[in-house]
Amino acid sequence: MFNEKLLDILACPVCKVGVEYDRENQKLICTKCGRRYRIEDGIPIMLIEEAELPEED
Ligand SMILES: [Zn+2]
Repeated sequence: MFNEKLLDILACPVCKVGVEYDRENQKLICTKCGRRYRIEDGIPIMLIEEAELPEED
C-alpha cells in the first residue's frame, strides 16, 4: 500500500511542486504539469523518463 504521508515529501522532479494521489489508478499526479507517476508495490516511481505526460486537449 502507498503511504499517503509520503505526499508531504514527494515532488514532481520537473516542477519541484507537490503531487496528488490518484487512488483509483495508483498514480501520483503533478499539480503543475500534470505528469503521472506510477506506484509500484507502494513505491512511487518519480522519474521523468518514466512519467506519463498529460493528454493534450
Ligand atoms: Zn510537474
